[in-house]
Amino acid sequence: MDLTKYARQLSLDFIGAENQKKLLNKTVLIVGLGGTGSTIADLLARTGIKKMILIDRDKIEGTNIHRQILYDYNDINNFKAETACKKIGKINPDVEVQYYNETFDSSKIDLVKDVDLVFDGTDNMLTRFIINDACNKFKIPWVFTSANETYGEIKAVIPDKTSCYACYNREPRELPSCSVTGVLSTLPNIIGSFAVNLGIKILLDYNISGDLYFFDVLNFELRRIKINRNDHCASCSLNDYKYLDKYYSNLGRSILP
Ligand SMILES: [Zn+2]
Repeated sequence: MDLTKYARQLSLDFIGAENQKKLLNKTVLIVGLGGTGSTIADLLARTGIKKMILIDRDKIEGTNIHRQILYDYNDINNFKAETACKKIGKINPDVEVQYYNETFDSSKIDLVKDVDLVFDGTDNMLTRFIINDACNKFKIPWVFTSANETYGEIKAVIPDKTSCYACYNREPRELPSCSVTGVLSTLPNIIGSFAVNLGIKILLDYNISGDLYFFDVLNFELRRIKINRNDHCASCSLNDYKYLDKYYSNLGRSILP
């Protein structure tokens, strides 16, 4: 295995040749290829993993380009997942990529089954509840991200070890859309970069907390919020995976809160 192109990270104690080989054996699913999702895909391709599975139903719009780093004006009206797949092929052709120009809903949870890690690049709570239930069911770690205006959040969910998304969110609710509130161009890239940072540590079995990190990128403020496991959590404590129900198997944009 030729590791030459990874030389600058091989010299880090934290990675080294053994851990690089470990990364090159990992498969990751990215749900949502918008702002945070495209930065996550870009950086994972450069970091070097075995395989990436991408899913997003959306096409690229002109208003996406200011922050969604994988796309340019020639990509407008093309599918995000398919375009991301092509771009990753140019960044690092050794990474195998599989893509779906589709909605991630409860009919797609088999995509979670055999991966090592899931990244949330979505913009709605219902999809996150579905990811959370699927990851708890199959015991797959995932990284939650959100980015709006100038504020972002990140949290690792490691089944059986940390709190999960449903431990501190009761049910999906409508979130402010960045089409209304706006979003600073740097924000999803900063949050996506931190998410990959966290993801690399998860993939290399470093000890990870379930703390929620809140970033105010305009004022350079970081808050770390402890999220304890909830003994009554429907998903991780009671194993009641209601968001994997057929009811959530045919989600269109209109019914996503
Ligand atoms: Zn939980």
